Amino acid sequence: MFWSDSRVRTLALAALLLCAAVSAPADMAVEEGNGKHWFKGVTHFHTLWSDGDAAPEVAVQWYQSHGYDFICVSDHNILQTGEKWFPIDKPEDKRLPMEKVEALRKEFGQDWVVVEQRDGKPMMRLKTLTELQERFQQPDKFLVIPGEEVTAEKAVHINAVNTREVIVPIKAGTVSETLQKNLDAIEAHGHEHNVPLLVHINHPNWSSTITAEEIVSVGGERFFEVYNGHGGVRNWGDPAKHITSTDRLWDIILSLRLGNAADTTKPMYAVATDDAHNWFYQGPGESIPGRGWIMVLAESLTAESLIEACKRGDVYPTSGVLFDSIRVENGTFSVAIKAEEGVTYTTQFIGTRKGTDLHGEPVKDENGNEIRATHVYSDQLGTVLHETSDNPAVYTINGDEMYVRAKVVSSKLKKNPFREGDYETAWTQPVAVK
Ligand SMILES: [Zn+2]
Ligand SMILES: [Zn+2]
Repeated sequence: MFWSDSRVRTLALAALLLCAAVSAPADMAVEEGNGKHWFKGVTHFHTLWSDGDAAPEVAVQWYQSHGYDFICVSDHNILQTGEKWFPIDKPEDKRLPMEKVEALRKEFGQDWVVVEQRDGKPMMRLKTLTELQERFQQPDKFLVIPGEEVTAEKAVHINAVNTREVIVPIKAGTVSETLQKNLDAIEAHGHEHNVPLLVHINHPNWSSTITAEEIVSVGGERFFEVYNGHGGVRNWGDPAKHITSTDRLWDIILSLRLGNAADTTKPMYAVATDDAHNWFYQGPGESIPGRGWIMVLAESLTAESLIEACKRGDVYPTSGVLFDSIRVENGTFSVAIKAEEGVTYTTQFIGTRKGTDLHGEPVKDENGNEIRATHVYSDQLGTVLHETSDNPAVYTINGDEMYVRAKVVSSKLKKNPFREGDYETAWTQPVAVK
């Protein structure tokens, strides 16, 4: 039997009306209670195992002594396993002078530090992840999760949190292909070892950048770094070089994904990280710890519980601002900020309305040749729907938005910022309006 045109039209109209009637996000309450707690953690930093300038125990101790609940050591293309000897006082690599070895002995004990002459040169053995876990982990208090920054070509760096073996980066043709193949390899690793993984695309605005269209082109990925504390990462973009800010990248990605019916189940979530490499602060531009982290609302301090919470969206990125709760009730989106005395907070509710023109214009140079850069879209993508200095900050969802997210900027300048003029900020995850 064939349906008549008029019957199809009637059904289509009914479906449209039904959609209009239920255009509201599901209720949610991301807040402590019902056995859930906020946990503070960081998933991206480096040690002497790759290109960081501190022994891993220095990094781990830094986070433990600064109130973090969990960390993931994410060195480039390596796990902290097996024997790795690091040269002391090596002229062409000055990251481990004898003074640092002496400082380690003083801090962690003479027996802790293992130094040997190897091939006639003094070397120190780097502590393995197991040794770090044995020394620093405390049940329900501090968790050290294995991980890796899968560092492929073309500035494609992807964090894989809770890995079991080294994931070797895969070479591919384009940036999109490199992203896709490495994401697939990471996902396969999770299946193979039957472990949940948190996977995030790192610093899209570092080096040659990753564009919004390239990120949209890959399936499955749900997290990226909206904030990376590395001094060389252009979180705010660089108009002179056609680099789009990470905030705007997020809105473009969300709009393109949610505007495409096939992808409505995949919002892009964001994290904030340190990407610390420099553990002995020497001034602005260095990549020090403490700049960006995530707060996760989870049942327990285990990798499984934390990662499942992140995948539910019960996580927010921050560079200093903290939330008590993020709620959606009967179409009202509210964010309760854990306010500090004498500090004010400006909250923007940001979103893209349904039906917005999603066409992007490629960027061209003066000769009319296309440049590899995020396309130029309408200002209506990621428009500020409402701004308030109230706490809680409240926005009434109309139903005509594809998604709404909140960004809260405090009046407090960040100490030792990645860039001068950075105010403490936090972001909620986007709420998709079906
Ligand atoms: Zn990186
Ligand atoms: Zn890194």
